[in-house]
Amino acid sequence: MKTFFSVGPSKIYPKVYDWIKIALDDQILSISHRSADFEKIYIKTATNIRKLLSIPKNYRIYFLSSATEGMERILQNTVEKNSFHFVNGAFSKRFYEIANELNKNTDKIEVAFGSSFDFENQNIPKKSELVCLTHNETSTGVMIDESHIENIKNKNPNKLIVVDAVSSAPYIKFNFKNIDALFFSVQKGFGIPSGLGVLILSEQAFEKSKYLESKNLSCGSYHSFKTLEKYYLKNQTPETPNILDIYLLGKVAEDMNKKGLDKIRRETEVKSEVIVKSIKNTSYSYLVSDLSFQSKTVHVLKIPNGSEKLIKKLQKQNIVVSTGYGNMKKDYIRIANFPAHTKEEIEKLCSVILEINKKTT
Ligand SMILES: *Cc1c(COP(=O)(O)O)cnc(C)c1O
Repeated sequence: MKTFFSVGPSKIYPKVYDWIKIALDDQILSISHRSADFEKIYIKTATNIRKLLSIPKNYRIYFLSSATEGMERILQNTVEKNSFHFVNGAFSKRFYEIANELNKNTDKIEVAFGSSFDFENQNIPKKSELVCLTHNETSTGVMIDESHIENIKNKNPNKLIVVDAVSSAPYIKFNFKNIDALFFSVQKGFGIPSGLGVLILSEQAFEKSKYLESKNLSCGSYHSFKTLEKYYLKNQTPETPNILDIYLLGKVAEDMNKKGLDKIRRETEVKSEVIVKSIKNTSYSYLVSDLSFQSKTVHVLKIPNGSEKLIKKLQKQNIVVSTGYGNMKKDYIRIANFPAHTKEEIEKLCSVILEINKKTT
């Protein structure tokens, strides 16, 4: 058996093996998505996600097909003209590009991959309606401290704030007071098969979509907020959704609630420390050296003389890590530290890395 420390898809949450079998045995994969049985699954999943992430009652929970879809939907439904983007890696860039593809007027602050922003001196134009933030840049391992999100909201109370939390949820306990929309997909921190996106939406963001609809502007079709809302109120989805994933997400969130998010967070930090300490004893180095914005869930390491050989050697020992992203592919590796990864697995990974590094230097 391989252990996947890849950043997404990543290691499957261990109990998912049993839960898939239960889903098959209980025949929930054949039920109608208009049935009371499906509504029960929807309610259970939404309730557990709401509890886990401390989502206020008046925030909607919509199911989409991916996080990338979340980017498109939020732009289509809340931006009449102008969006603003913090760009520091491939995913924040994708968000910005989607806005351009949708013919929005875009402004951005862009910094080098691996850097974070000078939040104190940020200047968001008055006209910007939506501020787009990538909480944890999976391409570079830069995580934004929550205090910055709070400051942005405080300085821009009339703008909507959207947070891409794909590779940090559920590690970060967000304060939704400062956030109007947050989305993630499930193949990273939740450890379930890909094919489901979750969009959490404030009253204010939903009202904006109503305003756009009232002006006869297109907000999309089957996944416009208007249509998502109509079905959300019935605990359903507009289309036939990924029922298995919705079911599994409910199970994983329920299990995490039993354990407690605080405990999961502490474990994540302990495992992260294990990786940081081990890497100090190698010839490898972090792309992000500033600890104040180094990600705890995605570790991006520069490998002198290229990462290809290391990745192959790890594979021989049934350990899978991700390559660097895009043009960093050949010189970097990325290691995920998600709730599904046990401390023992992280320690094993580190000892193998230390051994390989000793032999090659
Ligand atoms: C993986 C990832 C995405 C894209 O997720 P999909 O489920 O493939 O759409 C978006 N943003 C971040 C930060 C990611 O890590």
